[in-house]
Amino acid sequence: MSTMLLEVKNLKTEFKLKRGTVRAVDDISFSVDKGEILAIVGESGSGKSVTSLSIMGLLQNPGKIAGGDILFDSQNLTRMNKKELQDIRGNKISMIFQEPMTSLNPVQRIKDQIMESLIIHKKINKKEALARTIELLDMVGIPSAAQRADDYPHQMSGGMRQRVMIAMALSCEPQLLIADEPTTALDVTIQAQILDLLYHMREKFNMAVLLITHDLGVVSEAADRVIVMYCGKIVEEADVKTLFKNPLHPYTVGLLNSIPQIDDDSDERLYMIKGMVPNPLNMPPGCSFSDRCDRSMERCTRETPELLEIDGHKVRCFLYEEAQEEAEEGGLAAQ
Ligand code: ADP
Ligand code: MG
Repeated sequence: MSTMLLEVKNLKTEFKLKRGTVRAVDDISFSVDKGEILAIVGESGSGKSVTSLSIMGLLQNPGKIAGGDILFDSQNLTRMNKKELQDIRGNKISMIFQEPMTSLNPVQRIKDQIMESLIIHKKINKKEALARTIELLDMVGIPSAAQRADDYPHQMSGGMRQRVMIAMALSCEPQLLIADEPTTALDVTIQAQILDLLYHMREKFNMAVLLITHDLGVVSEAADRVIVMYCGKIVEEADVKTLFKNPLHPYTVGLLNSIPQIDDDSDERLYMIKGMVPNPLNMPPGCSFSDRCDRSMERCTRETPELLEIDGHKVRCFLYEEAQEEAEEGGLAAQ
């Protein structure tokens, strides 16, 4: 039996604009196993949200999937019609966003919003739905859940609203939760609590999580595996321990060096990657990171590196070609 839940193969998502075509997602492939937490990390504009919207079938015009396949539980989501996708969405796949207020109805009590979702998806009666709603709110750490269920969203803090969103997302017991910057709007303590909650919900329901964030700092505790994206491409992929201990891509190294250290009391200013993400309508030739890279070589401005794989650790950078060849030879010799 396969443990693979989601498989994204050579996905390309484009925005055709008057001024040209934005390749927001440029040929990415990855998979998520059942019960796994996979983080996708990258600066703003790297294509993380477009990736999740492509999976959910929620791209807005002029965004279009221009190529590739998205297999969920062996079903091809890119071939499904609206109705079939709707059945999967909010049932087998749920999504939570940075700002819960965009998904919560401001004029409806939170219990009614969760009950509605339960009645639609679980086909249970009102009384059962209310009991389950309170149970869910309690499970996501809302104190006095039975009373708070009567609140309207604006009566809650940002952290509590995100918990409500998670309760709502969990109401249908999804196999995959896509969390797009779920903690970005929250302060650091609450961030940690929400990540902890996601981690425990994964354990409880054996639910897979696609955790999307611009902040590499938040993934170290929560994720099993990490994908680093830059300008619509995957530049590095490794399990979380390996990535933090042995980052390969100069972009990942830069991101890691820009994470504030809690125990760092020096006055040294935090490292910042020089320059800016290139304009998607005017991408440089060669490696898209070359003009910001401390280790850029002449070749990097002409040729685009392939995604290399060294003992399961993937990296898109010419610096590791030799290492990959050696790893391959070692692998062959061992056979
Ligand atoms: P991230 O979530 O990593 O910050 P996004 O996935 O939102 O980045 O965006 C990736 C790229 O897609 C950006 O360069 C952005 O310019 C482009 N993009 C996203 N949405 C649109 C849109 N509606 N129209 C045109 N371009 C878009
Ligand atoms: Mg985004």
